[in-house]
Amino acid sequence: MRSASNRIKILWIFIALSLAGTAFLVFSIITQGGTWATSTRNAHLYINGTLIGAGNITDADGNVLCATADGKRTFHEDAEVRSALLHIVGDNHGFISSSVQNQYRTNLSGYNRIMGVWELSNFEQGSEVKLTLKSEACKAAYEALGGRKGAVCVYNYKTGEVLVSVSAPTYDPENVPEDINDSEQYDGVYINRVTMGLYPPGSTFKVVTAAAGIDNVGGVQNKDFYCDGAFHTSYGDVNCMSEHGTTQLPEALAKSCNSAFAELANEVGADKLQKSAEKFGYNQKVSLGKLGVYTSEIHTVKDDPLELGWAGIGQSTTLVTPLLQMRIMGAIANGGVPIEPYLVQSVTSAAGFISDAGISKKGDRAVSEETAKELKDLLHNNFDIQYGYGYFDESLRPCGKSGTAETDPEKEPHAWFTGFLDNDKYPYAFAVIVEEGGAGSEVALPVASQVINALT
Ligand SMILES: [Zn+2]
Repeated sequence: MRSASNRIKILWIFIALSLAGTAFLVFSIITQGGTWATSTRNAHLYINGTLIGAGNITDADGNVLCATADGKRTFHEDAEVRSALLHIVGDNHGFISSSVQNQYRTNLSGYNRIMGVWELSNFEQGSEVKLTLKSEACKAAYEALGGRKGAVCVYNYKTGEVLVSVSAPTYDPENVPEDINDSEQYDGVYINRVTMGLYPPGSTFKVVTAAAGIDNVGGVQNKDFYCDGAFHTSYGDVNCMSEHGTTQLPEALAKSCNSAFAELANEVGADKLQKSAEKFGYNQKVSLGKLGVYTSEIHTVKDDPLELGWAGIGQSTTLVTPLLQMRIMGAIANGGVPIEPYLVQSVTSAAGFISDAGISKKGDRAVSEETAKELKDLLHNNFDIQYGYGYFDESLRPCGKSGTAETDPEKEPHAWFTGFLDNDKYPYAFAVIVEEGGAGSEVALPVASQVINALT
């Protein structure tokens, strides 16, 4: 009896394992079927690594950025548009793994979970992916960067549509440079710096410190800051570029006084500064459809006034992506609540079915409406008393903050400019970084202006 009972037990174990195996197989087909079908080893969909029969990728105006012709994937006719959009559209070798061509290959190939490759077999064409991007404005951003490394992004802060996303260095996917893997000119060329470039924010972070000050330090608007060229602590000094004397918040931000913001960070405290930054999206997952976005990081240190001072001016261990910088500006422009940026307007099958239609989605509130209004006034004041209206027309109501982020004493600092237009017709928020470019207001501000001009 005992051995019979054991045999029954063993039989049951086999049945259970077999059921589990079947369940796993079904689950895998449902979740992984698209990956299998569009694996580059599957010759049915791919020839020499190229997605044959894949649908078009178009920009917001329907301009074709990538199409299939005679069994070959081809790109836009203008080499500058091809180079400007390389990191979003992708290439034919899979080098740009974060691109739409790669991340949306299942849609482009016409595969779906129920019909398999039915669409491709019947229409010989996969789904079309329409982007929110404006290709001519992207070309303007590429030209404005002028061969320098960096990133430019612009989005509509009321809808979430990303209008410009350009990363440099880049190359023409129709003419891959021979020295691409050897030349310093192409360092990090396969990375989309908009979503994956992590940089010190430098003085652009003073906007976050100001928000933390407004929310946590009573009477901060009437507080006097004093700068004799540095913020002094028993651990050492946070240096300022100038002796700004006595200032209040608007002037301190416009003149980008390090002493004032190092002091303010210490009044706010490490925990609250970090919390304010996290509300703006630091240490949080920020997404852009299926495209990977690196998480921006801040880790303030308690009981170290010097380190906290550096954190307050964006020069500690804090790192940020251009995408998050743009979203922070969008949150302030939109009354404290960011609308999540998105890049894919729609995916339309050859049979005409629309899936993955882009929708406007609110993120978590970053600051109260009142604080957003105060920050907006501060950022507009920066143009009134510091940047002037040489690059942006006053009627557009530009708001913004420059940054000059030190990295290596041997090298030029990174030039930042982040901002938005407080304008119902052109509700655009943007971020520009020029690596080793120099001063933000001299180098990145003109780039931002050229790109916004192409959109307004
Ligand atoms: Zn100062």
